[in-house]
Amino acid sequence: MTPEPQPTGPSTPAGPLVRLKNVNKHFGELHVLRDINLEVSRGEVVVVIGPSGSGKSTLCRAINRLETIDDGEITIDGKVLPAEGQGLAKLRADVGMVFQSFNLFAHKSILENVTLGPMKVKGMKGAAAKELAMSLLSRVGVENQAQKLPAQLSGGQQQRVAIARALAMQPKVMLFDEPTSALDPEMITEVLDAMVLLAKEGMTMIVVTHEMGFARKAADRVIFMADGEIMEQATPEEFFTNPQTDRAKDFLGKIL
Ligand code: ADP
Ligand code: MG
Repeated sequence: MTPEPQPTGPSTPAGPLVRLKNVNKHFGELHVLRDINLEVSRGEVVVVIGPSGSGKSTLCRAINRLETIDDGEITIDGKVLPAEGQGLAKLRADVGMVFQSFNLFAHKSILENVTLGPMKVKGMKGAAAKELAMSLLSRVGVENQAQKLPAQLSGGQQQRVAIARALAMQPKVMLFDEPTSALDPEMITEVLDAMVLLAKEGMTMIVVTHEMGFARKAADRVIFMADGEIMEQATPEEFFTNPQTDRAKDFLGKIL
């Protein structure tokens, strides 16, 4: 077999930004990721939907190497994700992640939450990190909260801080795992709006969500997962109006 072409450097982007090739993952007897093949292009927004337990979170966690894989390969920007070591820390910095629970450092101010990563991992100086953090906080509309502690903010505000914090690492791709499912309904829109903005700015995004409005507004592609498999992929329009498999029809019947 001839080797796959590799990008020659950061100035000559080629190939998909994220690529999973025959990725498998078990938890004991449970086969949670079954031969996953997925390519995400630069600037592409992919929404992942599917029933609870289908492996969506595991997929995200594998891409960020919060979870190891049994076999197959994951590449970020042409580089194979290593199992551990310095290379991993560096590559992981290219992948921003926002979880369902906001996971902010409770005893640090909002500003510190955002400056910490760039200073510790990227060696950014305090003043530069602060400037970057303030511009990101203002992009997600919470710049006035910079001096507060996370608990003083609403859930929607905290989740927007979590987005700013991930962006502060200047990732190449952003993963969102059900970012609005822990929020009160009135706060969902403000978080989705920040994500739509990010998508429009050209960020590459993989978003696990059942928010169809977001999918229709921002997704280039919807992926439907069930039982650890990618069962369908299509444009949001195609998928929501004309799902192909019974599993997808059944699922959409339950959530729409
Ligand atoms: P989803 O995000 O689609 O709801 P998950 O990726 O969280 O699905 O989980 C897929 C399956 O793997 C579920 O059956 C879940 O119970 C199981 N699972 C997830 N994490 C672990 C773990 N750390 N150990 C054992 N089983 C797990
Ligand atoms: Mg999940």
